[in-house]
Amino acid sequence: MSQAKSYAALSATTPLVPFSFERRALREDDVNIDILYCGVCHSDIHIAESDWGPSEYPVVPGHEIIGRVMAVGNKVSQYKVGDIVGVGCMVDSCQHCSHCAADLEQYCQDGPVGTYGAHDLIDGTLTYGGYSDHIVVREKFVLTIPSVLNISKAAPLLCAGITTYSPLRHHGVKAGDKVGILGMGGLGHMGVKFAKALGAEVTIFTRSESKVAEAKKQGADHVIVSTDEAQMQAAAFQFDYLLDTIPVQHDLNPYLNCLKVDGTHILVGLIEPMNPPVHSANLVIKRRVLTGSLIGGIAETQEMLDFCAQHDIECDAEMISIQDINQAYQRLKQGNVKYRFIIDMQSLKN
Ligand code: NDP
Ligand code: ZN
Repeated sequence: MSQAKSYAALSATTPLVPFSFERRALREDDVNIDILYCGVCHSDIHIAESDWGPSEYPVVPGHEIIGRVMAVGNKVSQYKVGDIVGVGCMVDSCQHCSHCAADLEQYCQDGPVGTYGAHDLIDGTLTYGGYSDHIVVREKFVLTIPSVLNISKAAPLLCAGITTYSPLRHHGVKAGDKVGILGMGGLGHMGVKFAKALGAEVTIFTRSESKVAEAKKQGADHVIVSTDEAQMQAAAFQFDYLLDTIPVQHDLNPYLNCLKVDGTHILVGLIEPMNPPVHSANLVIKRRVLTGSLIGGIAETQEMLDFCAQHDIECDAEMISIQDINQAYQRLKQGNVKYRFIIDMQSLKN
């Protein structure tokens, strides 16, 4: 066992505070990682604040982790001390169901083990995430960070990156497709980069007039201000795919109306209960598809990291100290970040 320093939420309504706990002793297939950087995902807030039902506290958030290997178990073959590695949203899965066998661990029939707020499959202890000085993770769930990537900007790829890459790849987005990205936040800005790299014509849907110029800078071909009814009407029947990263309840109907026949609306936010209801006519009358997507499997996450290295894709981020985390949560809720906070974990170790 090793003592870990972290920041944790102790309840849904109190700010994150310094918190110490024990990390497990290294198992034979474990990697012990010194955490260098951790991204701040909107899911961290959802879970810290029990937005998705009561969370188990303390919650040590953080599932966009970049670090350096400090030690390995005696059966670890892929990693050695000193390697720069990543950990995303899952740290284990059953490894024998049909979904795990198909490299879709995120859809494990027993549920994947989340990097935080879940229970270890072997000893049942609560998992604690990346707002901490080190983490112990099974080798199979550790990613290799290509050496050409800037490690101070790579952390968000482990969640924001794979969550947008996976559905675009799964649905076969290709040159010439018209793709709309709903919400220009952490996930949305990565969605633009991936959709462009796949050759699509990309439109950002944003509430904020002020983000129009920024969206173009990000590489978007077009921008639609979603609060402007005339712009939404003019977009009717234009899109093959919409990737919806909006983190709160919203009316899907005006967006569905923007899809062509056979167009697909992909949700990544958990927005229970869906309200207002989706009009069946918006699906039936144009044979449209409403679907969802959860992060990506480990093999696909590695493929995404390699794709970023090949296409020179990186996140736009603002570096913060762990001591600034509560202020960062407030700013993230207001949409006031370009476009991901990354915590420099050195600030926890000083
Ligand atoms: P961010 O807060 O960084 O971005 C969300 C964006 O949505 C905002 O920048 C804003 O864009 C838009 N938005 C925010 N509030 C509203 C609102 N009230 N109405 C309309 N649009 C709004 O969040 P993330 O990108 O980190 O996460 C997005 C969602 O995806 C979260 O719910 C998160 O939990 C979920 N998620 C899902 C995963 C999965 O595997 N399915 C994995 C990771 C995250 P703008 O200002 O341009 O309108
Ligand atoms: Zn996330």
